Amino acid sequence: MARKIKFPDIEINNFKIPYLSISGVLFFVILFSVLWRPLNLERTVYVPLNPQAETTVSNGSSLPVDIGEGQIEIVDDNSNSKITESSDEPEDIVAKDDLDAILDDKDNTVQYTIVRGDTLHDILLRYNVNRNDIYQLTTKYKQLANLRIGQQISWTTDDDHNLKSFNWTISSNNIRIYEKSGDNFVESSETEEAVSQEVILKGEIKTNFIADARKIGLTSSEIGTITRALQWRLDFKRLRVGDKFSVILSRQMHGKHLSNSQLLAFRFKNGSKDFYAILADDGKYYDINGSSLSQSFFRYPLAKKARVSSGFNPRRLHPVTGRIAPHNGVDFAVSRGTPVLSVGNGEVVIAKYSGSAGNYIAIRHGRQYMTTYMHLDKILVKQGQQVKQGDQIGLSGNTGRSTGPHLHFELHINNKPVNPLTASLPINEGLTGKSKNAFIAKVKNIKPQLEF
Ligand SMILES: [Zn+2]
Repeated sequence: MARKIKFPDIEINNFKIPYLSISGVLFFVILFSVLWRPLNLERTVYVPLNPQAETTVSNGSSLPVDIGEGQIEIVDDNSNSKITESSDEPEDIVAKDDLDAILDDKDNTVQYTIVRGDTLHDILLRYNVNRNDIYQLTTKYKQLANLRIGQQISWTTDDDHNLKSFNWTISSNNIRIYEKSGDNFVESSETEEAVSQEVILKGEIKTNFIADARKIGLTSSEIGTITRALQWRLDFKRLRVGDKFSVILSRQMHGKHLSNSQLLAFRFKNGSKDFYAILADDGKYYDINGSSLSQSFFRYPLAKKARVSSGFNPRRLHPVTGRIAPHNGVDFAVSRGTPVLSVGNGEVVIAKYSGSAGNYIAIRHGRQYMTTYMHLDKILVKQGQQVKQGDQIGLSGNTGRSTGPHLHFELHINNKPVNPLTASLPINEGLTGKSKNAFIAKVKNIKPQLEF
C-alpha cells in the first residue's frame, strides 16, 4: 500500500509547494466538474430520435455559457442546425412551400425584375438553372452583362433545370430572345410594339392549385404572385376538389412572346368562403374591403417585455475550440410558467420534446416566416393546429439543454435565422381615406368579372 510519504518530504524542503499544488489540483478538479458535469448529464439524458441526431451527438460539442445571474446555458456547437437550435429534427418536417414547388416543377417559366446588384449569372444560379447553360449563355452574349435595374427577364427550363429559352425585355419594342438549339444559344429579337392584353381565366381544383392553374394557362410567375398575395389568408395545400378560382391579368405581349404580366385580381372560392386579392394603386394587394392581405408580427412572444439574457449572435465563438457556435435566437429571462404567445397567425408545424430544445414549438407564418419557442415547461398546442397572433401556445420553462428558466425564441425568414429584435417585419395596414374610396370603386367594376 502506498504511503503518504511525499508530503512531509516536500514540506520539509518548502512549505509552499504542496500548498500550491493542492490548491492547483483542487482548482482543476472544480473546473473539470463545472465543465463536465453538464456534458455528462447531457449525454446520459439525451436519447437520439433519428440517425441525424446521432451524428449531432458525435460531431457537436456543448459548452456552458454564462448568461448572467449565475445561470449557465448549454449551447449546442452545431452550425448545421437549420430550423431550430435543436438539430434532432429532420428538416422535412416543415412542408415545402408552394413557391418551392413551383421552382422545382417541370417545364418551369420564371419572370424576374432586375434589382440593384443583380447579375444574370447569380440570378439564374439562384433558380437552379444548369450551370453549364448559364456559362454558355453569358460568355457567348456579353451584352447580357448590361441588364438594367427594373428590366424584365424571363426564362424557361426543362425537367432537369436545363435552360430552354431566355427573354430579355430591353424596352417595350425591343425584346431579345435566346433559344437553345443543340448545344448553343441562338439570339433573335422581337421589335413588335408590346400590346397590353387583359386576360380573364377561370379554373377549378381537380388535383392541386399549381397543376390546375397551369392547366388554364397561368405561368409559374403568375401562380407565384397569387400564392404570395394570399399566403396569410388561404392555405393552398388544403384546397378541396371542386373549389373554383378566377384571375384577371394584364399581359404585355410582343407578338407571341409574353414579356411581362401583372396580376390585377384574383378570387378563390373555398367551399362557402371567398378569398380575394385585388391590386390597388400602391402596387399592393388587398381584400375587397381594402384590408391588407399581409400580417403583422409581435416583436416579443411575451405579454410584457422581459430582460434579454443572451442575444442573437450568428458568430458567437466557442471559447475553447474557437469555432463559430451561433446563437440563432434570443433568450428572455422569464420565470417558469410565464405564458408564451404566438407572434403571428400561423400553423404549428412542430410541437414536441427534443433533447436539446426541450419542449418546443415551431410555427410557420405564411410562406416566408417561421418562429420557434424552446425550453418550454408546457406545450399548449398540437402539431397542425392553426394559431392566431397573441394565442397562448405554451408556458416557459427550463426543459432540454438549459440550466436556468428562460425562453429561447427564434425568427427565421426564408429558412434563415435572423435577429427577431431588429429584423424588419411586415406591418399590417389597410387602405384609408381617398385611396380606400378609389379602391372600393375599382372593386365594384372588377367583382362581376370574377364571377364563375
Ligand atoms: Zn438560447
